[in-house]
Amino acid sequence: MAKILMKTPLVEMDGDEMTRIMWKMIKDDLILPFVDLKTEYFDLGLENRNATDDQVTIDSANATKRLGVAVKCATITPNAARMEEYDLKKMWKSPNGTIRAMLDGTVFRAPILVKGIEPYVRTWKAPITIARHAYGDVYRDVEMRIPGPGRVDLTYTPADGGEPQSVTVHEFAGPGVVEGMHNLDDSITGFAHACFSYALETRQDLWFATKDTISKTYDHRFKDVFADLYEAEYREKFEAAGIEYFYTLIDDAVARVMRSEGGFIWACKNYDGDVMSDMVSTAFGSLAMMTSVLVSPHGYWEYEAAHGTVQRHYYKHLKGERTSTNSVATIFAWSGALRKRGELDGTPDLVRFADALERATIGTIESGKMTGDLARITTLPNPQQLDTEEFILAIADRLAKELS
Ligand code: NAD
Repeated sequence: MAKILMKTPLVEMDGDEMTRIMWKMIKDDLILPFVDLKTEYFDLGLENRNATDDQVTIDSANATKRLGVAVKCATITPNAARMEEYDLKKMWKSPNGTIRAMLDGTVFRAPILVKGIEPYVRTWKAPITIARHAYGDVYRDVEMRIPGPGRVDLTYTPADGGEPQSVTVHEFAGPGVVEGMHNLDDSITGFAHACFSYALETRQDLWFATKDTISKTYDHRFKDVFADLYEAEYREKFEAAGIEYFYTLIDDAVARVMRSEGGFIWACKNYDGDVMSDMVSTAFGSLAMMTSVLVSPHGYWEYEAAHGTVQRHYYKHLKGERTSTNSVATIFAWSGALRKRGELDGTPDLVRFADALERATIGTIESGKMTGDLARITTLPNPQQLDTEEFILAIADRLAKELS
């Protein structure tokens, strides 16, 4: 069988631990036999980040700006324990944070649905995609412990020498705490653009919610930015596509999400997105079945799995023990990136390959062959629990049949 040709290389960002082991298996067994794979390879494994003083992460983000589409393996974000384990020169920053800041993007996370892994919420029939605003609010706050009685003010000093403006936060009669947060019109606007464009691209309704009844200036600004942009640039396109933009209060949104059938994008402020994405992924069945794509308003896409490096399985693997690690989200990161590359390059064979790879993966699970995490929760009778490599080889077998 002739291999499928690619025009433009993908940016390939390799990673750490168990996901690095699966990365190689996925390439060797599911992609290289069928695709004449072109990538620019960057080793974001912690050892190489340390050896290059993290320059490799910056280089990989710059390559994504040049080539447009990247696929990323999960990577370790160092903490004190990792400093010792890897004898690091520095506690390097999260690669995802560095890349996101350089590409200025929004992360969309969506579950992969298969028969036999049923959402805990009975009404959910289609994926709920969460878009999280990844700038500001409590993640860039300043905080102060107030030791005793006194007044706290919030002051804005205009850079042009204009009159300062002040409001009193609170007259403290005793000890307490205080917090200052901010956000930027530019960042909120970029987030809104990313959400509206992704809704159009995936033909799904877009929901957005804040607490603007209580937060009459701060949250209200988010609501207004979305509403103004929708009217100015997106209403006609949404109507033509037959999709809807819907704004409501966050508490109402939560109630509606629980009663919904799914199949829409839920845009969340930073903290809401942090919390709700974990709730949604757990309620859909498994963190190992969540995909994640970073969409930049400048036209860059970076695909990855939403989970981490599955450290516990990796230590078992190092001891020569059998592992049964779920590779589905990492496979879908590859299929997502290959499909997007195919769409941008006008290479329909590559798009068809990505579709076939996803069908083969889902079909394998639905035929009863799966990894341990799914075997434990499936409603299918007599699931067959495969180890990490057996599962990938079972998909390869099915894929070869699909493509022949
Ligand atoms: P993790 O996602 O690796 O694991 C969390 C839990 O889910 C574990 O119990 C694990 O066994 C299970 N799990 C996750 N993915 C699985 C899979 N594919 N198959 C079977 N079970 C799976 O997160 P963690 O343990 O908190 O972190 C491990 C490392 O991953 C850390 O060093 C962290 O910095 C890193 N991390 C990276 C990313 C990323 O690169 N996007 C995201 C999260 C965590």
